[in-house]
Amino acid sequence: MKTNLLGRSRQEIGELIRPLVDRRFRSDQIANWILQRHATSFDEMSNLPLSLRTDLANSFCLLDPCVVEQRSSEDGATKYLFELEDGAKVEGVSIPEDRKLTLCLSSQTGCALGCKFCVTGALGGGRNLKSSELVGQYRSMLRSSANDVERVNIVFMGMGEPLLNTTQLLSALEALYERVSPRRITVSTAGVIPGIESLAKMERRPKLAVSLNAPDQARRERIMPIAKTYSLSDLFAALRGFPLERGRRLTFEYVLLAGFNDSPEDASALGKLVQDFPSKINVIPFNEDRHHIPELRQPPKERILAFTERLRSKGLTATVRWSRGEDVSAACGQLKGRETHSRTTIDS
Ligand code: SAH
Ligand code: SF4
Repeated sequence: MKTNLLGRSRQEIGELIRPLVDRRFRSDQIANWILQRHATSFDEMSNLPLSLRTDLANSFCLLDPCVVEQRSSEDGATKYLFELEDGAKVEGVSIPEDRKLTLCLSSQTGCALGCKFCVTGALGGGRNLKSSELVGQYRSMLRSSANDVERVNIVFMGMGEPLLNTTQLLSALEALYERVSPRRITVSTAGVIPGIESLAKMERRPKLAVSLNAPDQARRERIMPIAKTYSLSDLFAALRGFPLERGRRLTFEYVLLAGFNDSPEDASALGKLVQDFPSKINVIPFNEDRHHIPELRQPPKERILAFTERLRSKGLTATVRWSRGEDVSAACGQLKGRETHSRTTIDS
């Protein structure tokens, strides 16, 4: 078995290739090809002697997950289905906007947290993705994007709970930082406190998004079972301990569910909860899925706008995250479901 060099930091790559490469500048050249130029083979490494390229290829590989399906939506978002080495499948989404590209990555092959509004949750638990599989989603989607991309944002908002996969996530972040600033990477969590504490200790921290989804403990527990383990008050205590660099804010995500958490009073209660934090609130209209989640609905548009306005009237920053890629079910948190009940075909 060859060792995959993807998903590793410069230092780790250096240590692994040391038996073949003893000079520092060579080791750096190789790390640059992998981490900055996103090489897919040792053949590409044109500034290395041919013999070294051959030796590297005999012991190591640069293995990205395989794209088995790719579907573009009318609004420009593209959904990718990746097949991993063991046959497990995960999805990623690429969302272009002018010259900015947002890449939404999965962190696990399912999710054991079972939030009631989430298709990944309805499908049940899965395994943690390896660091190479995290970075590989980014590399693959970037490769098939337009060439004129100036800025890339990465959001860990695909399948799974990234903070239940902290070890691999932290390795992947180190590799990603070579090309993407921590300010452009967001990790979204359902509120896994030990994971938040691990991020808090990092020297170079990504941005943090916390999925609140309800304005009080009782209702949060009803839709997010993890809230019984990590209560709102403990969660907010952990967030107070999360260092925020100058100009940075926390993001609070709030999935709006008709008749459950979308009243003006709910907006006021949410505002109260977050008012002491430098933050922005992402109001996410629930993406309906009549097959997996038949009982929940998206509120009418006026109600979504009124909710958001109420937050703004309290001086908070709130934006509605209208879904992109709905026609290919590419909305984050809505991934993979379709595949499990109707086989989709590969679009050319
Ligand atoms: N597990 C992490 C990250 C993946 S989910 C988390 O929960 O934060 C990413 C986001 O999608 C979360 O904010 C989640 O609340 C939201 N989400 C999940 N299912 C959704 C749906 N059906 N409609 C709208 N948003 C959804
Ligand atoms: Fe898991 Fe996030 Fe979905 Fe909840 S919303 S089930 S934590 S992926």
